[in-house]
Amino acid sequence: MECIFCKIIAGEIPCYKVYEDDKFLAFLDIYPVNPGHVLVIPKEHHDNIFTLPNEIASQYFVVVKRIAEIVKNTMNADGINIGMNNLSAAGQVVFHSHIHVIPRFSGDGLNHWGNRDINESEMSLIADKMKGFIK
Ligand code: AMP
Ligand code: ZN
Repeated sequence: MECIFCKIIAGEIPCYKVYEDDKFLAFLDIYPVNPGHVLVIPKEHHDNIFTLPNEIASQYFVVVKRIAEIVKNTMNADGINIGMNNLSAAGQVVFHSHIHVIPRFSGDGLNHWGNRDINESEMSLIADKMKGFIK
């Protein structure tokens, strides 16, 4: 077993555990964006959102919401970012699906994503293309 998060679930690698139930585990990120940065993971190994079964996906956000409340209250945060990196191009480095719950503080200096220039016809083309994929 090579997956570092599977090793954490198995208790082979320590973590700062925050929450656990039969399907999910939440623990502190060792390189926090801000103190109180938590990772929420399903106990079943799935690489990313694309391979995550719907049954797990549907329960996942309920747990993430609980963790968001806990993080906000514990850290006295002014806001919370919830994020998930999927595949290398999106910055994923640990290939066991995980959701970041990051406390934010007014004036903490972290920047939002930038934005690109895009015209209206490109926008409607993209939206139409996406709608075409929805079954
Ligand atoms: P990413 O795959 O880019 O979404 O990020 C993986 C995250 O896992 C990073 O924020 C790391 O700091 C975090 N991380 C890696 N190893 C550990 C570990 N052993 N315990 C806690 N967090 C970890
Ligand atoms: Zn794993």
